[in-house]
Amino acid sequence: MTLKVGILGIQGDLEEHVSAAKKAIEDERLKGDLLIVKTPHDVEAVDGIIIPGGESTTMGVLASTNGTLSKLSKRLSEGLPALGTCAGLILLAKRSQDRVVGPTDQPLTGSLDIEISRNAFGRQRESFEAQLSVPKLGNEPFRGIFIRAPLITSVGRKVDVLSRIQEGVVAVQQGNIIGTCFHPELSGDTRLHRYFLSLITRDA
Ligand code: GLN
Repeated sequence: MTLKVGILGIQGDLEEHVSAAKKAIEDERLKGDLLIVKTPHDVEAVDGIIIPGGESTTMGVLASTNGTLSKLSKRLSEGLPALGTCAGLILLAKRSQDRVVGPTDQPLTGSLDIEISRNAFGRQRESFEAQLSVPKLGNEPFRGIFIRAPLITSVGRKVDVLSRIQEGVVAVQQGNIIGTCFHPELSGDTRLHRYFLSLITRDA
């Protein structure tokens, strides 16, 4: 079976995710094609989807104008495996607000029962790295790269926390959906992408 792995390609750092996903597919000795997803029709065609980092308001507004966001929301509610990173995580959340400007009236899929604080680390600390404990991925720490990152400020009952730092929760999973505040596609470590692929192959 050839996996069809989608990457939402409306805005953001898709090339890095394409490379990371290709490497993860090789590492797992799977067969897979990467598809750039831009339309509701594309959303229909994939077995799992990666939602990259970028700017979540722009991504959400553009994705809702042609119906891609609502189709995505529907497929996610039916169990489509997903990996959302940074802005991609925000797009998957139920509620988001900005640390400085307060509630953001931005289009979201509402798939993860979490609340997000956008740009939670402020200007001085726009970017930083942290060695994260992610028990689901084994004992070795995961290199977390945070770029104007959000923080997960509250999680619902059905949400598993995959990783936290002193400031709060930075990675979660709810059903087949994984979300991270950091950028695993930049870390050179494919464990999170491989874990995402395992959610697809488990269902296949
Ligand atoms: N700050 C961006 C947002 O709120 C996310 C940044 C990122 O994806 N690296 O949408």
